[in-house]
Amino acid sequence: MEMRTLTRGLVKGIPTLLKVDFNFTLGHAKRLAEVTADKREEVLFGIIDSLLDKSTIDSVYSLTSQEIYYLLVALYVNTKGSHLPVTYSCLGPVTKDGKLTEGCGNTDIPLNVDMTKLDVKPLLKDYKPLETDCEVEGRGKTHLVFRIPNHGRVREFESYGESLCDDYLDTIVKPQEGDVLPENAYDLAMQSPEYRAYKETVDTKIDLISWLHEVDGEVLSASELYDFSDGLSIPDLEKSLEYRVKYDDWGVKQDAQIKCPKCGGECRVALPFSVAYLFPRLLP
Ligand SMILES: [Zn+2]
Repeated sequence: MEMRTLTRGLVKGIPTLLKVDFNFTLGHAKRLAEVTADKREEVLFGIIDSLLDKSTIDSVYSLTSQEIYYLLVALYVNTKGSHLPVTYSCLGPVTKDGKLTEGCGNTDIPLNVDMTKLDVKPLLKDYKPLETDCEVEGRGKTHLVFRIPNHGRVREFESYGESLCDDYLDTIVKPQEGDVLPENAYDLAMQSPEYRAYKETVDTKIDLISWLHEVDGEVLSASELYDFSDGLSIPDLEKSLEYRVKYDDWGVKQDAQIKCPKCGGECRVALPFSVAYLFPRLLP
């Protein structure tokens, strides 16, 4: 089973063709068997990293998320075969005004996804980083560069957002020293409108700044960017929005059309391309 190239990727901000040869060895197979719930990303990303041509890409974490998804699909095809069986529940026919109905109750619509025939949309050829000047409170006129975030940076932002939300959760749950937070602390916190509003603000801000790459020629960390963005007006941050919408729609297409055999309802569903679904726990 081959799936030897290719997606349009980015190396140091320049669109280029990412090429990976899957010379999958017994060593890789052994490492793949080490996938467990807690070491899933570590093992899979380590395998992908060892397959990359290091003369053009320094590490798996400098790839974009689109490239990572592409390579996970390629890894699946090369190790588990060309098809991914998925089961969906009926969402019913879409009404005339485009809304989903409740469905007929059928929870067993099979879809056998051919992983070798997925649409891969290339990055637009005219892609280049967006450079713009903004007035920033306390900093004056500042030159900003927005670009497609690489995967390491996405993770950096995600974990920073999580830690901000965790800190805020403490102010709501108010644990005493030595207390162990209940396992459902997060679900409890999500019941609070205050916490939900806070989380939404953090998520929105993280989403906006995840494309912001350089400030006056300097690459700032997630926390520095988060603080820096306080001085930016929302319209300034939103300068990146049109740009993000234009350039974010590329990579492996992650949805499919299904038709319910019971009621004939058709709708689009998301394919489960998470690391956990493609590579469930292999060892107990
Ligand atoms: Zn149905």
